[in-house]
Amino acid sequence: MLFGIKAWLRHPRLMLDRLRYAQISTKITCFYAAVLLLVLILTSTLTGLGVYFSFYHQAEVELEMSMNNVLNVLEQGRSIDMDFGRDDVVFPGVVLRITDMTGQVVYENDSRFPPLKRVEEHRVKNPPFWANKNMQVLQFRNATFYYARMDVDYRGQIYQMHFFKTITAEKHFLETLQKILFLMTILGFFLALLAGFFVSRRILQPIRDMIITARKIEVEKMDSRLLVPPARDELTELAETFNHMLSRLEAGFKQQQRFVSDASHELRTPVTVILGYSDLLSRWGREDAEVLDEGISSIRSEAENMQQLIEKLLFLARADQKRQVLHKENIELSELLADTMKKMQLVTKDHTVELLRNDDGLMYGDLVTVRQMFRIFLDNSTKYTPKGGRISVTSRYVEEPQGKFMQVDLADNGVGIAPEDQQKVFERFYRVDTSRTKAQGVSGTGLGLSIASWIAEQHGIEISMTSALGQGTTIHLKIPLI
Ligand code: ADP
Repeated sequence: MLFGIKAWLRHPRLMLDRLRYAQISTKITCFYAAVLLLVLILTSTLTGLGVYFSFYHQAEVELEMSMNNVLNVLEQGRSIDMDFGRDDVVFPGVVLRITDMTGQVVYENDSRFPPLKRVEEHRVKNPPFWANKNMQVLQFRNATFYYARMDVDYRGQIYQMHFFKTITAEKHFLETLQKILFLMTILGFFLALLAGFFVSRRILQPIRDMIITARKIEVEKMDSRLLVPPARDELTELAETFNHMLSRLEAGFKQQQRFVSDASHELRTPVTVILGYSDLLSRWGREDAEVLDEGISSIRSEAENMQQLIEKLLFLARADQKRQVLHKENIELSELLADTMKKMQLVTKDHTVELLRNDDGLMYGDLVTVRQMFRIFLDNSTKYTPKGGRISVTSRYVEEPQGKFMQVDLADNGVGIAPEDQQKVFERFYRVDTSRTKAQGVSGTGLGLSIASWIAEQHGIEISMTSALGQGTTIHLKIPLI
């Protein structure tokens, strides 16, 4: 519909509006075709005008020179008679006719030219603007002439000199040229439309493919990817960027889904235990004091587990939504470590806890979460180190070209972590060998290290780990100082 000329002529505004909502390929095609049309029209007009002007001008010059020649010859004293034109006073192609006062022809070099009486009636009323104003344009059927007249006072007599110059051939040539230029313009325009339409459709084909693929992608089915076009252009870049974005989104969705299902799974166990004990209590608890005690303490411990789990989940949810607020301030690390270790020593009865070295150093961070991070590592060390084990902390000031750091190492001689698990333990809900640790009465959620690594990330702290099964684990923290 967009290419209908009639419609464009009748409702140009409506068609422009329609073009605004057309496909990109149509827009590009129309735009370039319009530009080409303009260029073609301009070139044709200028060529036509140039040729037209120079042809008319040539005829004018020849007429004017012929007139000058005649005047010169007369000044030299030649008589006006039928021999007058012998010396080629006029240019070839220029016709001269001389009449006396009675209108009698005294000289003519070509008798075939139209009679003078009819000159007036064949005069073109509105000659082209570029035609010389001192001359007239005559049109006899399909022959066109330039005509100029001058009156000459010669030996007391007034003679009229009539000059003609035919420009019929030039005019025909120009008319043919005009037709050709017009046809070429129209042809060029339609060719541009056609070529533009096909080429732009071809070029933009990858975009259409992308649209089709993108439509198929849904939350449940995020594994399809766009076909990356082989040419290295913007479309390839777009497809690659889109695919990367999809991969990230897919990973995010999967993580979210796993998080929800893991969280529900973790919450199910304490709830089942609580339900079991409440059943037990309702049946035997009233009579049996032992069952009552065990039931109450188990329900309490499971509820505490649940509370811890929910708190951790909330922390991570806030972190994911970037709502976890951090109040950063200058923290004296030696004070924080000394305080944390003192509290640890107070509550830890089965392990030796010692702070071997504690250098001074100021860090910029959120006191509550940094303390929480230390607690997570230390809690793990107590949880995964058998009774009688040793937990030791050293905090060493180091200066490197990149800046000042506090190197804090938290070491235990506990069960250790196998090399293949050392990366995974930082993932949410990941726990090593749950059956064994659970059997030892160790409760955990698998969220502690994820929270610790989030806190570290927020403070620019690098975490690394050295660990060997059965020998123990050391967590290395490289904390930037101010
Ligand atoms: P959890 O609540 O289970 O302790 P974490 O995220 O803190 O969760 O730890 C993930 C897993 O990493 C733990 O289940 C444990 O198997 C292992 N782990 C963490 N710290 C230590 C450590 N100091 N020694 C041995 N294993 C550890």
